[in-house]
Amino acid sequence: MIVDDLPQFTQFQVDEQTHIVLDREVCKSCDHHACVHSCPANCYTLNEETNRVDVVYENCLECGTCQVICDKNAIDWSYPRGGYGVCYRLT
Ligand code: SF4
Ligand code: SF4
Repeated sequence: MIVDDLPQFTQFQVDEQTHIVLDREVCKSCDHHACVHSCPANCYTLNEETNRVDVVYENCLECGTCQVICDKNAIDWSYPRGGYGVCYRLT
């Protein structure tokens, strides 16, 4: 199995509130956007024209990579509330 296959083998109980909050003011000064390139679930996207980074939390695999790789502490990440998030993974 490769990392790109993980989302299709994972089931989520999606919360209505996010567990990932970005400090976009900090992201404006980021010159590498490592979160965009490292998230296995492609939760982060970069708008090349506006230089704005956005995140969607619904398909987060809860691997923690983004929080580790962001060297500017721009990501406020926590596990989803109890009963939400990844509920089943066939790996
Ligand atoms: S979250 Fe961190 S790595 Fe991602 S764009 Fe913002 S500062 Fe850069
Ligand atoms: S913890 Fe971060 S890197 Fe891992 S899947 Fe979730 S958003 Fe992506």
